[in-house]
Amino acid sequence: MSWTTKSFEKYRLMAPGPVALHPDVLAALSQPMVHHRTPLFDQTLKKVLENLKLVFQTTQPVFIVNGTGSTGMEAALVNLLSPGDEVLCVVSGKFGERWRDMAKVLGYHVHTLDVTWGEAVNPQRVSDHLKKYPQTRAVLTQACETSTAVLHPIEELAKIIKAHSSTLFIVDAITAAGSLSLPMDEWGLDAVVAGSQKAFMLPTGLSFVAFSQKAQNYFQTSTTPRFALDLRLEKKANEKGETFYSSSVTLIRALEKSLNVMLAKGLQHWFHTQNRRALFTRFVFNELSLPLFSKSPSPSLTAARLPSDMDGQKLREHLETKYQLTVMGGQDGLKGKILRVGHMGHLEDSDLMAFAGALYLSLQDFGYQNLPAQNSFYEMCEKYLQDHP
Ligand SMILES: *Cc1c(COP(=O)(O)O)cnc(C)c1O
Repeated sequence: MSWTTKSFEKYRLMAPGPVALHPDVLAALSQPMVHHRTPLFDQTLKKVLENLKLVFQTTQPVFIVNGTGSTGMEAALVNLLSPGDEVLCVVSGKFGERWRDMAKVLGYHVHTLDVTWGEAVNPQRVSDHLKKYPQTRAVLTQACETSTAVLHPIEELAKIIKAHSSTLFIVDAITAAGSLSLPMDEWGLDAVVAGSQKAFMLPTGLSFVAFSQKAQNYFQTSTTPRFALDLRLEKKANEKGETFYSSSVTLIRALEKSLNVMLAKGLQHWFHTQNRRALFTRFVFNELSLPLFSKSPSPSLTAARLPSDMDGQKLREHLETKYQLTVMGGQDGLKGKILRVGHMGHLEDSDLMAFAGALYLSLQDFGYQNLPAQNSFYEMCEKYLQDHP
């Protein structure tokens, strides 16, 4: 067996967000509008707010913010911090830069902890910083830095930060929450931000933010100016079973469906299916002799280095135009040098096989020398999926 042109007739989206949508989500998106202050919608909202807590593994409320992940990040900062507060930003890629830039604009006193792209932060460095600057109000990091496909050691960082009673741990988990286990209460994370178009398998447009009890105490005292993102109002409305502003009815109804998919066989089973895709993707890159870029690979996306004489931007385009597969390339200094493959969203084994085939054939089209024989590669990929249910 091998790939045929038929294998690539379907368009496939394997970016680290947005992602392919589940059929139940697509169906929900096409339902007629209902008003958001109706018993029908109230039921949906209630269920969604409860199920979000299960995915965040918290007993605290999870807020739905209208706006992409960056809006959720901003909502976390403005509700917890005050201008002049000292914060430490872990900058290990593009999204760490976003935290840093956002925190500066909002008037916080920003220290950065620069981490080589492709590496995870060494928790000892955070510990050292907090000893030197005990007045640090918050540590900001990504759980998974999407620009480098690095997973940071969140549990270890949480342990260190917890020992500092007035320091908050604020985590951009936009490519982690819903894709891997990030037990917020158990680990003691103070704020966790997620986004709809990543592991939650929805269109872009919503973000989800949860806070520890300790963090919620800062809602009253933080003095960063805020109006639409003031979550005190949302919290009161949620307690009455409503949202403060107009609800994103369509997206929230779709969220009800995607949460059902995630929770259907239990959350740990869902995380297992996500991780299996990551393990398969690493297997594929390994068989094709393309080394992983990240020294701490993530279950949500995988990055691999391309041969230095290959133009990665062209390869990425070729995958799209010839094989109908969208993956991402590198950003900034990594432009053209790496491929980033997202495996969140609705993917079946046939999609994973198509990814392996499209990559193999594209590398062949580009004259890559280190390819195994096509038939045996195909069989190994199939066998891998069969042997790892
Ligand atoms: C996608 C992403 C974001 C948010 O991006 P938006 O375009 O605002 O949705 C933030 N952080 C990380 C780590 C991401 O992957």
